Amino acid sequence: MLLPSLLAILLSAAAGAAERPKNAILLLADGLSWGQLQLALDDAHARGARLALEDILAAGHTAYCQTAPLGALVVESGAGSSAVSGGARVANRSLAKLPDGTDVPGILELAQRDGKSTGLVTTGRLTHASPAAFLAHMRLRDDEYRIADQIAASGHDVLLGGGRSYFLPSAVAQARAGGAAVLFHEDELERAPAGRLLGLLSEDSLPYAMDGESGILERMTRLALERLARNPRGFVLVVNSRLVDELSHYNDAAGVLAEMGRTDRAAALLRDFARAHPDTALVVTTNHDSGGMGMMWQAYPAKFGGLEEQARLRGQKASVPAMFAEIRRRELAGEQRDGALVRAVVAPMLAPGIRLSDADYEALAKSLTVGPKGAAFTYSPAAREFSRLLAPHYLVGWVDGTHTSSAVPCFGMGPGTEALKGLLHHADVAGVLRTALSVPSHQ
Ligand SMILES: [Zn+2]
Repeated sequence: MLLPSLLAILLSAAAGAAERPKNAILLLADGLSWGQLQLALDDAHARGARLALEDILAAGHTAYCQTAPLGALVVESGAGSSAVSGGARVANRSLAKLPDGTDVPGILELAQRDGKSTGLVTTGRLTHASPAAFLAHMRLRDDEYRIADQIAASGHDVLLGGGRSYFLPSAVAQARAGGAAVLFHEDELERAPAGRLLGLLSEDSLPYAMDGESGILERMTRLALERLARNPRGFVLVVNSRLVDELSHYNDAAGVLAEMGRTDRAAALLRDFARAHPDTALVVTTNHDSGGMGMMWQAYPAKFGGLEEQARLRGQKASVPAMFAEIRRRELAGEQRDGALVRAVVAPMLAPGIRLSDADYEALAKSLTVGPKGAAFTYSPAAREFSRLLAPHYLVGWVDGTHTSSAVPCFGMGPGTEALKGLLHHADVAGVLRTALSVPSHQ
């Protein structure tokens, strides 16, 4: 009588072991919420295309994930990434650290201790809260020089992104002392030496996809996969498409669509890898909703959004921040910031068929105010004004230029990701990623 049940236990244990992934990949696109995802899906369908993200969704492992951090309802990037990485809710602006000062070990640290290869690539700066919460522990996210020091000492195998200006010579020396080759330009990616890599590929974030796409996220992702997959014990890779959020802060719908395209091209590489290596768990999520955006219908005259608006979204020629930066540059060079200057910069960048009036350009000129650091325009007032002017043409609406408490998608394919179902918190993603560790319950 005992034998069958023992056999059943042994069989189920063997099945459980077989279903555990060896590798875990997290595609964390800041601000890739339901609205941004729908915009990209609709655009692909209008072009007769299918997103890699749609293939991953089709696996059917999808959860509605809440994102509230410790002590608030709306999450910022650091706490959001801390939750996904470490499985614990921390206070906003903290990086993988509890209020009592305890460090929350993240997925990359745990994988490193487990003998796996580890890596992170980002289109943002490595020291920005969103990737940094996977790489450092800080009570507050602001001191990016100290974050850079921690990143340089972290010992991960492949770290690629921007943020060079925060890595002092001592941090670069520290990374080299730890055995990493330090790259300073994206041209070096394809001829990077063997061994560990720290790529500081721009001073701040990498350029937006709309302003000069060099395939950088795909190239970084491909290199990371090649390097990390050599470890017979497996690997954990975080791919952070950071700038969907940044452009959502600017309420730049066309820029978001281009950034979603870049994200999807990286997702295609990850999907293909997961298909070719069925011992891989691939999870897609975000650290928060940004902007509360979505296509909307217009009442008078009635318009319900369609091919015309989608074509316009694809026709914008520069990101909104790039346009604002150019206006600022010309203002600093001595030109008067008025409707004429704004028209001269903005009109050639608009999608064909969009015409704004003199009054529109004057209103936009007035909304452009100098930011607190004096170096750039604050995005909120001007971004809101510009998106209001473009709304009749794009039929995209935004709640605001900040984050919202809205739930976000968490979805994946591969072993372990079947746990992504129903109503979860995005901190639960950490548990899915940990199934790839040899001691998954390890805290
Ligand atoms: Zn944000």
